Amino acid sequence: MQTAPNPNSTQEIVRIEDDRTGLGIETLKRAFLDNLFYIQGKFPAIATLNDYYMALAYTVRDRLFKRWITTAETYGNQKARTVCYLSAEFLMGPHLGNNLINLGIYEQVKQAIEELGLNFEELLEQEEEPGLGNGGLGRLAACYLDSLATLEIPALGYGIRYEFGIFNQRIQDGWQVEITDKWLRYGNPWEVSRPEWAVEVKFGGHTESFTDEHGAYRVRWIPHKVVNGIPYDTPISGYSVNTCNTLRLWSAEAPETFDFDAFNAGDYSRAVQQKMASETISKVLYPNDNLTQGKILRLEQQFFFVSCSLQDMIRILERQGIPLEQFPEKFSIQLNDTHPSITVVELMRLLMDEHGMEWNKAWGITTRSLAYTNHTLLPEALERWPISLFGQLLPRHLEIIFEINRRFLDDVRLKFPDDWERLGRMSLIDESGERYVRMANLACVGSFAINGVAALHTELLKEGVLRDFYEMYPEKFNNKTNGVTPRRFMVLSNFRLANLISRKIGNNWVKHLEELHKLEDFVDDPDFRREFREIKQAIKQDLAVYIKRTTNIDVNPNSIFDIQSKRIHEYKRQHLNALHIVTLYNRIKANPDIDITPRTFLFGGKAAPGYYMAKLIIKLINSIGDVVNRDPDVRGRLKVVFLENYNVKFAQRVYPAADLSEQISTAGKEASGTGNMKFALNGALTIGTLDGANVEIREEVGAENFFLFGLTADEVYAKKVAGYNPMDYYYSNPELKLVIDRIASGFFSHGDANLFKPIVDNLLYGDPYMLLADYQAYVDCQEQVSQAYQDQDRWTRMSILNVARMGKFSSDRSIRDYCEGIWHVQSVPIKLEEYVQENAGRMIVS
Ligand SMILES: *Cc1c(COP(=O)(O)O)cnc(C)c1O
Repeated sequence: MQTAPNPNSTQEIVRIEDDRTGLGIETLKRAFLDNLFYIQGKFPAIATLNDYYMALAYTVRDRLFKRWITTAETYGNQKARTVCYLSAEFLMGPHLGNNLINLGIYEQVKQAIEELGLNFEELLEQEEEPGLGNGGLGRLAACYLDSLATLEIPALGYGIRYEFGIFNQRIQDGWQVEITDKWLRYGNPWEVSRPEWAVEVKFGGHTESFTDEHGAYRVRWIPHKVVNGIPYDTPISGYSVNTCNTLRLWSAEAPETFDFDAFNAGDYSRAVQQKMASETISKVLYPNDNLTQGKILRLEQQFFFVSCSLQDMIRILERQGIPLEQFPEKFSIQLNDTHPSITVVELMRLLMDEHGMEWNKAWGITTRSLAYTNHTLLPEALERWPISLFGQLLPRHLEIIFEINRRFLDDVRLKFPDDWERLGRMSLIDESGERYVRMANLACVGSFAINGVAALHTELLKEGVLRDFYEMYPEKFNNKTNGVTPRRFMVLSNFRLANLISRKIGNNWVKHLEELHKLEDFVDDPDFRREFREIKQAIKQDLAVYIKRTTNIDVNPNSIFDIQSKRIHEYKRQHLNALHIVTLYNRIKANPDIDITPRTFLFGGKAAPGYYMAKLIIKLINSIGDVVNRDPDVRGRLKVVFLENYNVKFAQRVYPAADLSEQISTAGKEASGTGNMKFALNGALTIGTLDGANVEIREEVGAENFFLFGLTADEVYAKKVAGYNPMDYYYSNPELKLVIDRIASGFFSHGDANLFKPIVDNLLYGDPYMLLADYQAYVDCQEQVSQAYQDQDRWTRMSILNVARMGKFSSDRSIRDYCEGIWHVQSVPIKLEEYVQENAGRMIVS
């Protein structure tokens, strides 16, 4: 038996800690086998791959807990100013590998697992990723959590624990098929439920006014139903620091198992139905990217997680003994798009109705606490809710909105007298037809800061969608260019390149990505260029093996890996890429001996299930691939592959393997893009328009290292105003005409001329995203790409310079910008040894 250690001896205490959550190989192995036995209830002879994964996940989680608890305790003791990042989506990706990197135990754990005779990569692969987001917006939230923790900023991510995340995509006969994402099926080792912090959220019903004991006018909300929000916490480790922040996701539950009135009346099924209706709120993620559908359940989701989160913040405030008046000093709330913009109204309601505060004071607190990030210029993505629907679900909030609007429009009238059209445009209520609540207007009025996500996007906001608000509140507007975390998207996903870089310039770049510029010193070093090129080649080889295994298509690792992976959307113009493929194919058919740089066209991306054109674009790409990949005239020089189920796990495999990154949206449509950053950071060259963050990427890497083509946002606008006619391009460009005609003829659809008619007609009669206007410039630019690739040395130099100059696009830089420009929050380092001594000592003494 072990004797009780001397509490005054640090050594003893640290050794005890080592016993349980130490990082030595033997300790790791024992912990892993313990978890397999005591948590999974298995022993090696009968354990499944998933049992092993779970045992490993718990082993790693145990090593986070000390940091997680110490972090929470330190923030509590210091009453630290805290960032609350409110987002309806968090596209986290697998946790295991990322936590191993951030804890600095990747190699030890790998060794321990391999010494136990298991395949480490297979275990990593086993994790079912939480797909709680659609694309860029949700992934941005995830990168920001990583950077907040790494920069030691007190922060909470607040969102929804969807039972079903983004659907899994299969490709059948060239079409997308959606499969339910049952990510919780085998349990989630990364979350801890906290039912003791559940809150109640009200819906529906009506309001009543009354006079309180001080003679003040008050309103009470008598809801139709109440739903419980249960928080599920996930630890968010920082890289190479002790900080471990929290992602708090809310799950909806019925407050009682049964509606007892109904139950007692013998109406069992109605009672159960009510329970199910309540729990539907957090059931499923809406699978639309850049599109709002105006569904009542979506508004319920938004209000649900906002109300839960605000009540949670007030609970924290009370626990720390901070008066409600100091809410804006304690919390800085960032609204990730308008999805959580009901925060403006719910915070007002909580302060006034639940905490007896008067309007002006509540409004001051609200508008000093909130900041709003706009993510889109697309009109179809701007959220608005029919008044009738809104009032049925949130009657009290509608009253508050009317009052905010009345006061706000008074201010507008003061600043812009007699400008009736402006008043109509700025009103929180759209009264041009059926009446709607405009959520972007609400977010602008209720926030002290409004930001776009790339320099161009912010400028376009100020002169377009939010122009009136810019003229009203110019001081609120600012830019915060997006970024991506180099931990997940370099160190974890491209360890070969990461290791090469660290051998040359040390490993400070992982936290200070600007240091990558030191690589420029090696661009003239032939050995470095050779190593750099060999790494890209090895990764392409790996992807080729994966493609063979999953699609049975042979691709040539020496060809250009030309990749477009992102949500399928007309504005992103995957079909422009397809037109280029058909152009090259036609050239080969006209002259099979033509000199063509071999290319592998890789696509990945999901289409919203209700987005017909996007789904048809997937079918078009697959149909073109079916013909091109089999045609003997092509002689394998072109290959077209659509890789199914694009998600974070898969993104990590794809970005490092690219030679060419396709960023070809119609200028003025992509707010920022972050895929563009992940590609370039991994050494892909970009072919792109002057859109979103492409503009800043090109500025950084140098125009000579970026393949630019296409109309600018101003030119797109001017052409639309002047009257754009795609037919002019069709008739004046024989090569373009041949491409369109081939698709229209049924050449790629077994003679069925109807199949792709919607795409052809859309391009010829309207072409809202101006593919035909940009076609020739795109094809010419692709020719330059092919020429450049022929000179491998030149290409490698360009590629190295891209990596070396991508430092700006770390999400650490974005988060520093937010901290300085909006949140005014400082880092709070977490000291671990002190905690271990103090608490372990306390436990032993008592
Ligand atoms: C980065 C990322 C995106 C965003 O890609 P864009 O090219 O910026 O649209 C979408 N999905 C996943 C899985 C990502 O990792």
